[in-house]
Amino acid sequence: MTVRIGVIGTGAIGRDHARRINQVLAGGRIVALSDVNGASAEAVKADIAPDARIYATGEELIAASDVDAVLVTSWGTTHEQYVLGAIAAGKPCFCEKPLATTAEGARRIVDAEVAHGKRLVQVGFMRRYDEGYVALKKAIETQTGAPIMVHAAHRNPTVPERYITPMAVHDTLIHEIDVFRWLLNDDYVSARVLFPRKAVRSHGKLRDPQVVVLETRNGVLIDVEIFVNCHYGYDIQCEIVGEDGTARLPEPMAVPMRLGAKLQNEILYDWKDRFIGAYDVELQDFLKAAAQGTAVGPTSWDGYVAAITSDACVKAQDLAGDAVAIDLAERPGLYA
Ligand code: NAP
Repeated sequence: MTVRIGVIGTGAIGRDHARRINQVLAGGRIVALSDVNGASAEAVKADIAPDARIYATGEELIAASDVDAVLVTSWGTTHEQYVLGAIAAGKPCFCEKPLATTAEGARRIVDAEVAHGKRLVQVGFMRRYDEGYVALKKAIETQTGAPIMVHAAHRNPTVPERYITPMAVHDTLIHEIDVFRWLLNDDYVSARVLFPRKAVRSHGKLRDPQVVVLETRNGVLIDVEIFVNCHYGYDIQCEIVGEDGTARLPEPMAVPMRLGAKLQNEILYDWKDRFIGAYDVELQDFLKAAAQGTAVGPTSWDGYVAAITSDACVKAQDLAGDAVAIDLAERPGLYA
């Protein structure tokens, strides 16, 4: 079966996911596009999806009888309304992170999906599909013994002036927040944030870098450095310390070179390249499940937990190292 897909939001990632579905993956076809910027939807139709119809609104796209499943790749603030619309229509929905920009919004999605009684939503936490993280999870589960600590870093070369301190959590750390829960099969109980002196390349409204310390139910302590003006490259680091040994996230493939009296290899610079294979695998998973009228992979509940945890981290940014408790409601049976 070919799943007929509608894409709401045809900017950077929407366009790229449309390309994947029409040109790389099996089992899906883009039949509908919508974007508040009509020219952007027209360009994706012209370049990637010539058969697609363009709809004035996301709501009309969701209602279209020839749309089997929906991709929500518009701005974060608009995700909730479209995901709720897709659930109301009973259509599988892939939603880029964040699931919603507030924990209350994410909870409304969880409640709607639970009331529907079947999974329909996959959240775009693509790191769970990255080969390196998958191998790291296997190493933790089979070799290093029970985890005790995690040391991690999320470094970007640079960010624009509009990127302000809370965005380091909502836009950047959110991937770590999800992937550590999945790696450790654990949940968070508290968050703390510490700031060293501000880096000289930081902007007026950004305190960069920062260190977030998360504690889990099983007593694992996770320290994550977020440094979004590190200048030298896009660099994701993660080391797990277990009872019997340590395991480290593999570096991306790079050719080691002996040049000019140096042993060196390139470090990626553009975030789009770092998890490029993982985007393919996550969307292939979505298409496969959507053909059965359901969804797999990261859940609405995972999106909700990420939102609650993000809120705690942002609160902790103003508390000079004091801990903020993370209290989760009981996980509904749909997400067991
Ligand atoms: P983008 O380039 O700004 O694209 C978003 C598009 O949505 C724009 O064309 C925008 O129109 C359009 N839009 C805004 N409101 C809309 C609405 N109500 N209905 C329909 N279209 C609307 O942003 P992006 O980088 O693609 O990011 C989109 C989402 O994906 C964000 O939530 C982001 O966090 C997420 N994302 C995730 C990853 C990941 O690694 N998983 C990577 C990148 C992005 P205008 O042209 O008028 O602005």
